[in-house]
Amino acid sequence: MSLLVVGSVAYDALESPYGKVARTLGGAATYFSVCAAFFTHVNLVGIVGDDFDAKDEAMLRKRSIDVEGLERTPGKCFFWAGRYSENLNERVTLTTELNVFADFKPRLPEKYRASKYVFLANIAPDLQRDVLHQVKGTPKLVAMDTMNYWIERTNDDLRETLKYVDILMINDSETRQLSNEHNLLRAARHIFKMGPSALVIKRGEYGAMLVDKQGVFCVPAFPLEEPHDPTGAGDSFAGGFMGYLASAGSTNDAALRRAMVYGSVMGSFTVERFGLDRLLTLKKSEISARARHFAKLTQFKL
Ligand code: AMP
Repeated sequence: MSLLVVGSVAYDALESPYGKVARTLGGAATYFSVCAAFFTHVNLVGIVGDDFDAKDEAMLRKRSIDVEGLERTPGKCFFWAGRYSENLNERVTLTTELNVFADFKPRLPEKYRASKYVFLANIAPDLQRDVLHQVKGTPKLVAMDTMNYWIERTNDDLRETLKYVDILMINDSETRQLSNEHNLLRAARHIFKMGPSALVIKRGEYGAMLVDKQGVFCVPAFPLEEPHDPTGAGDSFAGGFMGYLASAGSTNDAALRRAMVYGSVMGSFTVERFGLDRLLTLKKSEISARARHFAKLTQFKL
């Protein structure tokens, strides 16, 4: 089943206590696509400038990622710079240059319009809606991400988009901010009234929580001794989650629980190295082995 994603394809400058890179391929849609492509075919919608490196394009093409929807335009790619604190839990954004992203009007190639699984990565909510409206028929599953910027500045627009979304995937502070509720379960109930029937709450090193009308399922973050760079962990989680569901062709409770595990597996690989480095050497067999490790990690008898 094909999976559509719209979001940023960027160059990032990253700094953490483990090192520094001046310019590396990043962007929410990039992390998502590279992770999801381990599970299924991905249709990528985004925009890049004329500084987009041919070897980065080749990397996407050689995976199961269709780049016909990756528009090229004169100008520079989206650029983001961030620095992490000692414990990697806090990050400051040093620079955000929208560049070609500023005038982005997503257009879906005809062959993308039949996509049954859709992920709207973190971009302006009106653009997310615009993409969704170009998909033919009713997709099997629509999930989206957002951030404090859109919650604060385009709240009405965001709420309009949420009406068409099945699963909202955001972090704990964004969940609280969107709902005005401190307790995450109460917050989820509040957000269900806005449209989504499920919430995936990402909690960094504390793992992630799926809350839907059936109940709650929690998955830990994989315990790592030396995480290097958390950039893209959330988007990688989303890629593993949606990629698995699209490949399984099911969204029942058992599939959603497994998707949570594959999300956490992919996020854990991403943080092991800077940028996309770990994902680019990753093998499918390592993903399966880590998923089995998760099963052991969470198994107990009563
Ligand atoms: P995450 O660590 O999951 O928040 O994702 C980090 C990625 O998102 C980086 O590779 C950035 O290029 C990209 N990014 C950062 N800020 C934005 C933004 N405002 N809109 C879209 N993408 C962004």
